[in-house]
Amino acid sequence: MANKRDYYEVLGTSRNATDDELKASYRKLALKHHPDRNPGDKAAEEEFKEAAEAYGVLHDPQKRSLYDQYGHRGLEGTGFSGFGGFEDIFSSFGDIFEDFFGFGSGRSSQTRVQRGADLRYDLVLSFMQAAFGTETEIDVEKNEQCPVCEGHACEPGTHPETCKHCQGQGQVTRTQGFFSVRTTCPICHGNGQMIAHPCAKCRGNGQVLVRKRVAVKIPAGVDSGSRLRLTGEGEAGGHGGPAGDLYVFVRVEAHEFFERSNTDVFCRVPIGFVQAALGDKMSVPTLDGEKILEIPKGTQPGDIFRFTGEGIPSLQSRRRGDQIIQVDIHTPTHLTKKQVALLIEFSKLEKNKLSSKLKNILKGNPAKANGLRN
Ligand SMILES: [Zn+2]
Ligand SMILES: [Zn+2]
Repeated sequence: MANKRDYYEVLGTSRNATDDELKASYRKLALKHHPDRNPGDKAAEEEFKEAAEAYGVLHDPQKRSLYDQYGHRGLEGTGFSGFGGFEDIFSSFGDIFEDFFGFGSGRSSQTRVQRGADLRYDLVLSFMQAAFGTETEIDVEKNEQCPVCEGHACEPGTHPETCKHCQGQGQVTRTQGFFSVRTTCPICHGNGQMIAHPCAKCRGNGQVLVRKRVAVKIPAGVDSGSRLRLTGEGEAGGHGGPAGDLYVFVRVEAHEFFERSNTDVFCRVPIGFVQAALGDKMSVPTLDGEKILEIPKGTQPGDIFRFTGEGIPSLQSRRRGDQIIQVDIHTPTHLTKKQVALLIEFSKLEKNKLSSKLKNILKGNPAKANGLRN
């Protein structure tokens, strides 16, 4: 991965090249390094593959945006890992080669090995499940190898027959200009074989749709947008190819009390103005149950307190973030006569002090006015 050239450099375009510019550059390179024009030339083959890989990423808006943001690393885990050989390239860009050469340039091989398709499953977790991890089971519909014909697609006891159109080559050769282009056999679609007696169970597909229950272990600390890969749990591959992967996309539901920011949890706790003024000890919910929070006297609206290590575990380090508690100071709206009398008494004591500070503000003396909070 480290030695990969920049894809834009490979195609010789600027980073903000349009789709058409990318396609034109790729077309030029593909024609220059095309294997039919450079038989046995390893360097040309590598350049041909490199250009195909670069174009494969950049003409796909999603992959291009990942690549633009994160470079080659951004494509790790997207299931894109470059091309193995010409077959891959031709099967991915069949349409473009049709475009370039007037007709398909698929170099087919018999019994083409194909990796199974990747699958996606969207999983909704509660706040607590995401915080502490969980184990669950999901039902996935996918194509698996047919149990009757074991993927061979013909009735047990019968065998595929050689395609008469291409004599089992899977391709037919046509000449256009100086290109001698082999196209996929239209009769056997490149397999080189015809199935006279298709398997009844899978109707000759070699695969059947099944519903499978898959166990998923969710690690503590996942968040909305987290993606888990279950290797080999995607669809079965063709002709003995490996199965694809199953990607589980996580979405985490909101919590009525806690909000999350990475590994920290944030919450708001209402307190009375007397508690704020005199200080108090109070019980606060945490992810692990209740915990006593000590509020100092003179606590102000919006003041923040922290329970270190009471947050959510980091997926990487397992270290837990903090719980951040912000106090909301509530002004009482229903007072008894006695409370009102006491507050009036209280305000008489406060009045002079406050008004002298307000006077400073009105006089535009910020230095003294700053003492307002004392
Ligand atoms: Zn079958
Ligand atoms: Zn054929």
